[in-house]
Amino acid sequence: MLTCKQVSQSLSKEDYEKLSPMRKFFLKLHVKLCFFCGKFNKQVMESQDMCRCFREHEEEIEAARPKLDPSKKEALKELLAAQSKEQ
Ligand SMILES: [Zn+2]
Repeated sequence: MLTCKQVSQSLSKEDYEKLSPMRKFFLKLHVKLCFFCGKFNKQVMESQDMCRCFREHEEEIEAARPKLDPSKKEALKELLAAQSKEQ
């Protein structure tokens, strides 16, 4: 059985999906059952899932994102520059 420290260290180093199947199994088991670090490390794993998902779909997300037309972008830049000068 892994300790809380081992689980936290290996989650802070890399994506848990990259671990060996055996280690991944014990890590998931620990996080599921541990009263001390379970809640926190579950969130760490979820954020790794989100990052992985974003990386896998980055191009689609980028393509679906509404684009600002260049003239409006310039106007917005000038507005922001003017506002930062006021402060
Ligand atoms: Zn723990």
